[in-house]
Amino acid sequence: MAETVLVIGSGGREHALAWKLAQSVHVKQVLVAPGNAGTVGHGKISNTAAPVSDHAKLAQFCKDNHVGLVVVGPEAPLAAGIIDDLTAAGVRCFGPTAKAAQLEASKSFSKEFMDRHNIPTARWKSFTDPKEACSFIMSADFPALVVKASGLAAGKGVIVASSKEEACKAVNEIMQDKAFGEAGDTVVVEELLEGEEVSCLCFTDGVTVAPMPPAQDHKRLLDGDLGPNTGGMGAYCPAPQITKDFLEKIQDTVLLKTVNGIRQDGAPYVGVLYAGLMLTMDGPKVLEFNCRFGDPECQVILPLLQSDLYDVIVATIDGKLASCMPVWLENHAAVTVVMASGGYPSNYAKGLEITGFQKAGELGLEVFHAGTALKDGKVVTSGGRVLTVTSIKKDLVSALDQANKGVAAIQFQGAVYRKDIGFRAIAYLNQSRSLTYKD
Ligand code: AMP
Repeated sequence: MAETVLVIGSGGREHALAWKLAQSVHVKQVLVAPGNAGTVGHGKISNTAAPVSDHAKLAQFCKDNHVGLVVVGPEAPLAAGIIDDLTAAGVRCFGPTAKAAQLEASKSFSKEFMDRHNIPTARWKSFTDPKEACSFIMSADFPALVVKASGLAAGKGVIVASSKEEACKAVNEIMQDKAFGEAGDTVVVEELLEGEEVSCLCFTDGVTVAPMPPAQDHKRLLDGDLGPNTGGMGAYCPAPQITKDFLEKIQDTVLLKTVNGIRQDGAPYVGVLYAGLMLTMDGPKVLEFNCRFGDPECQVILPLLQSDLYDVIVATIDGKLASCMPVWLENHAAVTVVMASGGYPSNYAKGLEITGFQKAGELGLEVFHAGTALKDGKVVTSGGRVLTVTSIKKDLVSALDQANKGVAAIQFQGAVYRKDIGFRAIAYLNQSRSLTYKD
């Protein structure tokens, strides 16, 4: 019997999840809470005002609306125990428990975990006292330093310092001025790693690991990796720099070790596990774990999933992933370019009309909405990252070309986007650059 699925969240990631779930023969309806203008109502997908933060009320909502599966997009509800509470109330839901989600929600927890289980990461130390943090910084033999709020800070709590003085200033901003609130009660100070960043994600039922094709995000606002850090300005998948052999190595040294380690620690991890890696000269090292799909990585990974996402999710929840391993489209590449509001990631206007969706559709592109809303029958901007334009083609160069054409078709006042998404992959494919490791 076909099910109703509830997707929690409002970004491009959640639009992509709803889009993929709606393709399943097992799904008759996808509700998105709260959703955006892209999920407001077409085909099987519509928005709902489900009470997301009150887990008891949400469980009742699921029962009243015959929701057979809840898929949680963002990290905050996972860290707040949404999976624990819905599961206890008998509602089937997808994602890690609050305890397992600590891998993302507490950087000090995740660093201790990695050391305990011998998972490669930057050298580090955590502090609850700013004076101790600063005296460590002044005496540390790290060539350069990164200061991180330990808790969840919506992707903003990381400061890459250009000097020891700047690192101490960051400590004071985080711990004394409380720039990120309680998330900064503990700080992690770690050595700066150099190399290229990639995102390696997997589905896991707590035992079996099913890796997804590797993706690369572009965190900086401007072309050439310049400007401030953002939630991500575009991504592509697969990243050709990560060969099949290399992905297997990452699977063994990072993903499997993490899943086995957290199970041994008494918190089996079920859901999507995301490892943000720096490919250093000494091999891949973990920068961070996320306890869910990345955004915008989700928008380039899911289009390459050939299997039914609903089947894969249910098998993962039921501990049967080994018998339902996801199959990925071979010889295809996906690219997504984020269009953001002028002024993002600082202040920006809202309510500006967006046009050109039909033209983008005619070009065969998927437009996943993020910060959009409906006003007087028109789609308008309502957030920093407004939408992502996704292209799926047989090769990366064609996908890039098509995605850029889609971006040119869509218009709103002051739109900001990068024109060089995928530049590292292109350089690698042109052999003007290679990845080298000591081992
Ligand atoms: P995180 O949330 O810990 O992944 O940090 C956000 C971003 O900060 C990462 O995507 C990197 O670009 C950068 N970053 C974090 N830790 C380090 C590190 N140890 N060395 C260099 N860059 C880092």
